[in-house]
Amino acid sequence: MSGAAGRVGLVLVSHSRALAEATEALARQMTGEAVAIARAAGAGDDGAELGTDATVIAAAIERVCGPAGAVVLMDIGGAILSAETALELVDPDIVARTRLTDGPIVEGAIAAAVRSAAGGTLDQVAAEARLALAPKAAQLGEAEGPAAAAWATPAAAAASVAAGAAAFTAATDAAVAVELAIADPSGLHARPAARLITRAAAFDATITLENVTTGRGPVPASSLIALASLGARRGDVLRLRATGRQAAKAIETLAALLQHGAPAVATAPPPASSHAIPVAPGVALGPVVRLVRSIPEVPETTVDDPAAEAERLRRALDLAAQDLGSALRGTDILDAHQALLCDPALVDEAISRIERERCNAAWAFRQAIHAAAAIYRQLDDPYLRAREADVHDVGDAVVRALLGGAAAALPDGPPAVVVAEDLTPSEAARLDAARVLGVIDRRGGPTSHAAILLRSAGIPAVAGAAAQVPDTGGARAGLDGATGEVWLDPDPETTRELERRQAALRASRRPPSARDGRLRLACGREVELWANVAGPSDARAARQAGALGIGLLRTEMLFLDRVDEPGEDEQAELLAEIFAAFAGAPIVVRTLDAGGDKSLPYLDLEAEVNPSLGVRGVRLSLARPALLEAQLRAILVAGRGHDIRVLVPMVSTAAEVSAVRAALERAHEALAATGAAHRWPVATGIMVEVPSAALMADRLARQADFFSIGTNDLTQHTLAAERGHPRLHALADPAHPAVLRLVRAVVEAGHAAKRPVSVCGEAAGDPGVAPLLVGLGITRLSMCPSAFDAVEDALAGASFAELAAIAEEALAVDDAAAARAARAAARRPG
Ligand code: PEP
Ligand code: MG
Repeated sequence: MSGAAGRVGLVLVSHSRALAEATEALARQMTGEAVAIARAAGAGDDGAELGTDATVIAAAIERVCGPAGAVVLMDIGGAILSAETALELVDPDIVARTRLTDGPIVEGAIAAAVRSAAGGTLDQVAAEARLALAPKAAQLGEAEGPAAAAWATPAAAAASVAAGAAAFTAATDAAVAVELAIADPSGLHARPAARLITRAAAFDATITLENVTTGRGPVPASSLIALASLGARRGDVLRLRATGRQAAKAIETLAALLQHGAPAVATAPPPASSHAIPVAPGVALGPVVRLVRSIPEVPETTVDDPAAEAERLRRALDLAAQDLGSALRGTDILDAHQALLCDPALVDEAISRIERERCNAAWAFRQAIHAAAAIYRQLDDPYLRAREADVHDVGDAVVRALLGGAAAALPDGPPAVVVAEDLTPSEAARLDAARVLGVIDRRGGPTSHAAILLRSAGIPAVAGAAAQVPDTGGARAGLDGATGEVWLDPDPETTRELERRQAALRASRRPPSARDGRLRLACGREVELWANVAGPSDARAARQAGALGIGLLRTEMLFLDRVDEPGEDEQAELLAEIFAAFAGAPIVVRTLDAGGDKSLPYLDLEAEVNPSLGVRGVRLSLARPALLEAQLRAILVAGRGHDIRVLVPMVSTAAEVSAVRAALERAHEALAATGAAHRWPVATGIMVEVPSAALMADRLARQADFFSIGTNDLTQHTLAAERGHPRLHALADPAHPAVLRLVRAVVEAGHAAKRPVSVCGEAAGDPGVAPLLVGLGITRLSMCPSAFDAVEDALAGASFAELAAIAEEALAVDDAAAARAARAAARRPG
């Protein structure tokens, strides 16, 4: 994101939302997130109709037009008019930095994005967009525009560059040159050309390329259009020539890039990747199979006998319950689905519609589902927002039960990478791990129930990949579920790199029985691996995976997806099932972390303008003492005979901790008064996930028996970047030195007060961050057990002193990327 801010942004104005999305995806294949691209496409509420809208275009320009400016690409007629009108709606300063270009929208966007990513100025990027058809025209032998003609011959090349890129003409005697044949079967196509431009921009050198075989060029290595005009095919000999201070280095690097796809000296990740959201670790590579749903069309017909139709709906609900029951058996998600199937907001609403409007059952239920889904969609909390998929899952099952149709299934064939559209939990549960190499969900996110199921099934997965993977096309795909990288039709070099990563993972995978929840660093220091769990089957899987204990039991699962508050006995029963899975091992139970955005219907909470900063976590628990004390009693009762500890979420002041301690005392006294057997005393710790708690950890240590650092919230609050926000993924990175400095502060306070400090946010299971955390003094990491292998590998062979040195370095850099690089550099051989 920070990189994008200094570059020229692009606005895609199209009558068609689909066209703009696909164009953005193509451009991002070249540049990833390096360039800010905004779409202003389609008309109507959600842009589904064909048309353009000046106000939407104006907003898009304002979004991407930073100090470097913005280039606007448009499709046909009305789009141009709307874009011109949009300029009347934005600030004159922004207008001065905005260029409307007559370049073709698809080719222009790709060329302009690459030029912008390579640091091109506003005029250079606009020129690049304008000239984007030139290579095509030249290749087809059609009348060449001025640019194509200019780049086609050496003499004219200098002239064209003088206009577009001032440095180009200065060839000196100190030039360095190399000739090489193109090995890539597809020739110098757009993606390698884009990589070459990006790399070339990093050198203090003037670089040209010439196709010796065809006599085209030389052209500057700064323009995708210019490189395309070389028409370089496999076997053609290219001459690279550079002058300037770093000429030799530039030629060495670019020649290696052209020959091998990446410089021989580089140990960077494979090229041409683009990032989606990491969901489940692992590397997958194979043929693409699309998961196709066959939900029957729901007719809007009326019925003569509403009572019989309501009965039909009830029977369908039973059938759907059986269907989902068989798909989700043994998962913690089943309860939530069953609760939705009898949720009055769905069932009563549908039945009253049938009675009122005499509509058919499928139509009535579908309407109720739409209304419920819309509520979830508007929630601010990404975890709860992700529950929308559950609602659709249930809706689809009921419609299938009423109208026929089968659940989405994979066609027969060899194991494949499955591309899905907002994968639902039951679809995820039905995936046969033996047939599925990996999953790319074009929508969805890391906290959906489908994501949770994929993680526990050990299926590598990424989500939110619409920008990287169009909704059709692509024969093969690769993905790295730990990094979020996705490749559609990866080139041979990338394929080799992915195979190498797969082999490395296979070699490092160890049987769970080989783990006892502790790993030793090279110096002998022990690091403990604990598990984050949310329900009984999670807990059983975590125990099997060899977790030392439960480091974070999220109790929200007990409260979500239901219409009424769970009773104390019901809570105790479920908790006891979870605790039983970790009998004899330590278990950290977090009190309810809801409120504000996690708006449980039965709590009847007030709407808040900024829910993630509202009455949530411990604030809500203290505002609802009966709710808190019932939960504490249930925890104490279920905890009898177990090594449980209580963890308080979202603490921001010491008073909150003492208030919870007092509530815990009351819960104990109430149980003692009735003679109910229960666990007592219990250690009480706090989540450190608000910057104030991290900064005041020395004071809080007087109240808290232990600290558990929640890097997910701590990162969002420290960087003011909403977690799960699709555009702030890079900013909300727990490797940011600001977050690491807070972690250090907590570790220091914890050590001084002899309070154990663990990390239970996603960072603990992130192999790029865990070594930094250990280097800062953390010895207890709690994560999703599927991350154990990766974290063990990331720490293998390192000593604490080495990690401490790297962590020290990471504390002193500018951003998360540099902090991660500190770790990556230390692992590079040599
Ligand atoms: C965190 O914020 O890091 C955390 C572990 O809590 P949650 O993800 O449940 O908010
Ligand atoms: Mg949190």
